[in-house]
Amino acid sequence: MTELQTLRDYIKKSESIVFFGGAGVSTESGIPDFRSVDGIYNQVYSHPPEAMLSHSFFVRHPEEFFRFYKEKLLTPGAKPNKAHLALAALERRGRLKAVITQNIDGLHQLAGSETVLELHGSVHRNYCMECGKTYPVSAVVQSSGAPACACGGMIRPDVVLYEEVLDQNTLERAVAFIRQTDMLIIGGTSLAVYPAAGLVSYYGGDRLVLINKDSTPMDSRCDLVIHGSIGETLDTALH
Ligand code: ZN
Repeated sequence: MTELQTLRDYIKKSESIVFFGGAGVSTESGIPDFRSVDGIYNQVYSHPPEAMLSHSFFVRHPEEFFRFYKEKLLTPGAKPNKAHLALAALERRGRLKAVITQNIDGLHQLAGSETVLELHGSVHRNYCMECGKTYPVSAVVQSSGAPACACGGMIRPDVVLYEEVLDQNTLERAVAFIRQTDMLIIGGTSLAVYPAAGLVSYYGGDRLVLINKDSTPMDSRCDLVIHGSIGETLDTALH
């Protein structure tokens, strides 16, 4: 069997499928991968991007934080690609139980996915740090400098910055989905970053699939490895 046939066979046999995705899922929508060689971490800025996206930098230099955030992390024109659409279709067929993502762009929901666990939060949820009032992403886009609430407080995105902890409830739900699923598909992540590698270790089944452009330290642990485009691979596997 070819790799693609094996993937089709796995999908057919699995009552429940969970997808775990990283930045590589969104690069096909034109959103840069933070950590890849040509990603934004290798571009020149006054501070290293990892520092600018840290909690302490945000607190000390909110104006600079938002300048970087708006320019590099907000991607208002981005559209779901074949990977997002294929996963939404698989959920509608009742096979895919959850998408667990490290991305903050909201493209899975835009494609129609309903059960989406966003480990690193979402640019689409924003709230006032003083009164808690919530704001859409447009409030951040349209602000000059740091966005302010009517109460005078600062609005911040519900996104997990460096030095901040992941939401415990989201993590626990992710673990529960991974533990129970027949098939786990990992896509577009090097698995080098916390908590990806740790989460995958909760999977106890025999249909662990990895779809990634490059090889990863996880390749040898998987039942099926496909090196290629996630969008093309999933789209082809479903047709
Ligand atoms: Zn407020």
